[in-house]
Amino acid sequence: MTSTQGQPHVTMDEITALAKRRGFIFQSSEIYGGIGGFFDYGPLGAILKRNVKDAWWREIVELRDDVVGFDSAIIMHPNTWVASGHVAQFHDRLVDCKNCRHRFRADHLPSLEKCPDCGMRDTLTAPRNFNLMMQTSIGPMEDSAARAYLRPETAQGIFVNFKNIYQSARKKPPFGIAQIGKSFRNEITPGNLTFRVREFEQAELEFFVPDDGNDLAWYEQWVSARKRWYSDYGVNEDRLRFYELTPQERPHYAKAGIDVEYLFPWGWGELESIAHRGTYDLQAHMQLSGKDLTFFDEAGKAKYTPILIESSAGMDRTALTMLIDAYRSETIVDAETRKETNRVVLGFHPKIAPVQVGVFPLARNKPELVERAKRIERELRPHARTQYDEGNVGQLYRRQDEIGTPFCVMVDYQSLDDGSVTVRDRDSMRQDRIDATQLRAYLAERL
Ligand code: ATP
Repeated sequence: MTSTQGQPHVTMDEITALAKRRGFIFQSSEIYGGIGGFFDYGPLGAILKRNVKDAWWREIVELRDDVVGFDSAIIMHPNTWVASGHVAQFHDRLVDCKNCRHRFRADHLPSLEKCPDCGMRDTLTAPRNFNLMMQTSIGPMEDSAARAYLRPETAQGIFVNFKNIYQSARKKPPFGIAQIGKSFRNEITPGNLTFRVREFEQAELEFFVPDDGNDLAWYEQWVSARKRWYSDYGVNEDRLRFYELTPQERPHYAKAGIDVEYLFPWGWGELESIAHRGTYDLQAHMQLSGKDLTFFDEAGKAKYTPILIESSAGMDRTALTMLIDAYRSETIVDAETRKETNRVVLGFHPKIAPVQVGVFPLARNKPELVERAKRIERELRPHARTQYDEGNVGQLYRRQDEIGTPFCVMVDYQSLDDGSVTVRDRDSMRQDRIDATQLRAYLAERL
C-alpha cells in the first residue's frame, strides 16, 4: 500500500534505527541471526508498551463500573478452537514464487500473474490454505492427542468463562470483560518491525448487551469511546481513520464493524477492530460444549444469549503507532549564534513517555552539582518516571529529545546559591527557572 496523503513524515528505516539505538525494540535472538516475526522490547520500549497497555486498561476497566478485568491461559482446550472456527477457517492463502522462492499472502498481491519481488511472470503457485495457529504438544507424548494451540486471540478465554465471570462478579448485561495478553499467529509474511509479528499482545474488550434494541447504540458508544482514547493520547487525527466495513467485508453474523487504521510510512494498517458480533461466539461454545452460557434475567424470568460488542486492539501495533506518530525531525536555530542544527524529537504524550523527567548536573566533575541533581531525581522518583544523567549538556538534551522526555531539570551553580533549577520543555525548548521546592507541583500540573 502506498501513502495516500503525500510523503510519510518518517521512514521505517529511520524508526527501526532509532528503536534499536535508544533501546525501544530489538530483533529477537539477534546474536543467532534473529528469528522472523519476533521482537524484544528494550528498556524504553518495555516502558512504552506498558504505558500503552496501562492507558487502555485504565480507560476500559478502572474508570468504568461496567467492565471487569480477566486473565486467561494462553493454552486452552483444543475444542475451543474447533468451536470458534479457527481450526477450520483461520487460514491465509499462501502463494510461493517458483523462481525466487519468496512467499506471499495471496490477498496482499495485486495479481497472481507476476511475482512482485523478482518480477517473473507465471511463477506463482496457486494459493494454498495455510492455518495460522501455532501448535505445541502437551505432556511427554507428541501424538495428535497431545496437540494444543497457542491462542491466536485472547477473546475465546473470555467466552468460555462467561458464566464463571458474570456469576462471580455479580454482573448482568450490559457489562464487559476485558483482557490483555499474548497471542500467536504463524504469519506468512511478518514485517514492518512490530506491525506484523508472530507473537504479539492484544487488548480485547467483550461487551455483552441484552437484546433490547439498544445493541447498535452500544456499538456506536464504543466506537466513540475508542476514538476519544486515541485522541486523548495525541495520535494525529490526519493519520487515523475509522474504516467502516461493508456487509461483504464483515462476517455473516456481524451487524456492523469498523477497522481503526493508522497511516503508517508504508500506507494504512489496522490497529484495532470494533465489531457487533451478535450471539455467534457464545452460541458456538454452547453448541460444542453442551454447557449453558446464557444469562438468566431475574426480572423477566427468562434465559437469553447476550449480544456481543467487541473491541480488539493490538498493543504492539499501538505502541509502534505511538512511536511513529511522535517522531519529528526539525531544524532549530540558535538564538545567539544563528547556527542551524537538526534535532529529532519524539513528542510523546506525557502519560506515554517512557521517561517523564530527566535530571542532570551542569558539570559532572563538580560533586556538589552531581549530589544535588541526584537528590532531586530521587525525590521526584515516586511522583514521575525520572532519569538521572550526566555529560555534555547539548548531548543530554539531544538524547532526552530523542527518547521523548517532556521535561529536563538542570542543576547549575545558581542552584547551589539560591536553590533554583531550570526546567526545559521538550517541545518549546523554553527554560523556566523555578525554586526546586516547587518542582513537584510544577511537573504535576504539566504531566
Ligand atoms: P491483519 O488483517 O492485519 O492480519 P486481523 O484483521 O487478522 O489483522 P484481528 O484478528 O482483528 O486482526 O486482531 C485484532 C488486532 O490484533 C489487530 O487489529 C492487530 O492490532 C492485532 N494483530 C493481529 N495480528 C497481528 C500480528 N500478526 N502482529 C501484531 N498485531 C496483530
